[in-house]
Amino acid sequence: MKLIMLGAPGAGKGTQAKQIAKAYAIPHISTGDIFRANIKNNTELGKKAKTYMDAGQLVPDELTCDLVMDRIHQEDCSNGFVLDGFPRTIPQAQALTKALEADGETMDYAIDVDVPDDNIVKRMGGRRACLNCGATYHVVSIPPKKEGICDACGSELVLRDDDKPETVQERLRVYHEQTQPLISYYEEQGILRSVDGTVPMEAVFASIQKILEA
Ligand code: AMP
Repeated sequence: MKLIMLGAPGAGKGTQAKQIAKAYAIPHISTGDIFRANIKNNTELGKKAKTYMDAGQLVPDELTCDLVMDRIHQEDCSNGFVLDGFPRTIPQAQALTKALEADGETMDYAIDVDVPDDNIVKRMGGRRACLNCGATYHVVSIPPKKEGICDACGSELVLRDDDKPETVQERLRVYHEQTQPLISYYEEQGILRSVDGTVPMEAVFASIQKILEA
């Protein structure tokens, strides 16, 4: 099963992608996580990506596409994968379509987790992330067992630089301008499915399961 998660930053697509990956035993591929791991390890890619990420901008398509194409051709992706945060622009989507076509394959679904902007801004201020293992929490809806500490690895939780209010506004602007057109792109391909992302996360997951098991 090959899936794309679409949705504004903070819509909860990462949380859903992780659950899908677990339930269907396919890798969860988050470009944001890959960039953050590279920043943490101070790689050349990380250095390049950081300036864009801290400003709420997208990392250039060339850097991003090469990375994803390498990843989806790895052995563990042979039964499928769930893409989270990629594609984010029409050129990225076209590059993905082309790469899969070359292998005689197509994506199965693009699932849009739909949440209005005002709701997103409220959510992102409460988001907390573990920079060590990538786990994400929310002070109200998904609190860690111990405040400020990651349940999974015990590291300190932080408000990511790109989740700060001024950056969130810029990320939403970039989302509407560059990523939202993907909804029509996948609608035209007949693989778009939308779910209401404002309901509790278990209910969002149930709607996604219904789509995948229909
Ligand atoms: P995320 O964790 O998916 O919200 O991504 C965090 C940041 O990483 C984004 O705001 C972008 O700066 C960068 N990023 C992640 N995925 C992509 C992508 N597909 N194309 C360009 N930039 C990306």
